[in-house]
Amino acid sequence: MFGLVAGVVVGALANILFPGPEGRRTVAFLADAVAHPIGQVFLRLLFFVVVPLVFASITVGVAGLGDLRRVGRMGARTLLFFLLTMAVSSVLGLTLVNLFQPGSGFDPEVRAGLMASFGGEAAKIQGFVDSNKTPTTLATANMYLDMFLPRNVLDAVVRMQMLPMIVFALLFGAALTLLPDERRKSMVAWFETLGEAMVTIVGFAMKIAPYAVFCLIFSVVARFGLDLLEKLAFYVVLVMGAYLIQIFVIYPILLKVLARRRPFEFLKKATPIMVTAFSTSSSNATLPTTIRISERDLGIRPAVAGFVLPLGATMNMNGTALFEGVLVLFVAQIFGVELALQQQMFVLMMCVFSAIGAAGVPGGALPLIMVVMAQVGVPPDGIAIVLGVDRLLDMGRTVVNVIGDVVCAAWIDKAERAADAAG
Ligand code: ASP
Repeated sequence: MFGLVAGVVVGALANILFPGPEGRRTVAFLADAVAHPIGQVFLRLLFFVVVPLVFASITVGVAGLGDLRRVGRMGARTLLFFLLTMAVSSVLGLTLVNLFQPGSGFDPEVRAGLMASFGGEAAKIQGFVDSNKTPTTLATANMYLDMFLPRNVLDAVVRMQMLPMIVFALLFGAALTLLPDERRKSMVAWFETLGEAMVTIVGFAMKIAPYAVFCLIFSVVARFGLDLLEKLAFYVVLVMGAYLIQIFVIYPILLKVLARRRPFEFLKKATPIMVTAFSTSSSNATLPTTIRISERDLGIRPAVAGFVLPLGATMNMNGTALFEGVLVLFVAQIFGVELALQQQMFVLMMCVFSAIGAAGVPGGALPLIMVVMAQVGVPPDGIAIVLGVDRLLDMGRTVVNVIGDVVCAAWIDKAERAADAAG
């Protein structure tokens, strides 16, 4: 927390004290040569352990449950929670943006200026997805197959695609439950040790966390054009406000009602998760910390944490679903595109699906948002207007994303304990 606050303060000071192009260069040098490497060491240590940790956690989680019906029940509950809460988040975003209309009356000159400055970046993002071509049915079917069951799982893992690895680990864990007891136990023990070793490496990363968090935040804040923030102030405040409602109103209700936890004590204990998510802007990079803190401080059993959290980091993105709705409508308002209620319902559905599909990395949602925009007739390159402030909003939505996973894990943990007690 201290690193985070200090990073904001020193970054903002650097931004103010070094004005003009010369000053920009000095600040960029400091950020690139000093802050960036230190921040990256932390980030990469976390990325290092993600693959073995996720594989080990899910294997132990599923095999530890020992009964496939239980895996099915937990899986169904988890997915239901993901879908419903993402829909709620998206409705929250859409309601606020309809209510406050941040894009109406947006200065056309500012719009043109922003489009000119960030248009190139928008084109690069769009290059990923090529939303202009309508895919054939066969291509769409193959896309979904590849998402879950690619031909080559190792290739998917190498490219940090988590979903295929999760499917493989689920199958592996499920297969272990069908093996004779003693063989299963020795394999599970092996994976437990692997998982513990990975969590120990996370512990090393956490030792440098305060300095790294300072550096990561400093880099972002120092480079941030404060004038940009001013131009888009209404939009930024609206999105941040929506995140706060999600974290301090919606999650506490879910924690209280479903998980029967004391919400604010729970959130306080989850602070290291929030700080890591905020400074890394990546659900995947935060996952090792999420697992460690959930098991150690939040009392969520490893079998549940190992199952729900990796799935959540990949699929459950409440902050992203919320943000997407706001962004699509904000850009629509700026361009004067009217979206009737029915179309907004479609946007809602698309927000949920694209949030599931978004990768848990910085800016992972952006290419998919452009697809959604194209589908409802909002110019996708209009995303250029907000790209300059996106990193800041990405940090916030990543916090909302990972806390959503932890809330889900707390609920599943409670439900499983109740099921155990009932015998
Ligand atoms: N950065 C987000 C995450 O990792 C994804 C996104 O919304 O861009 O959770």
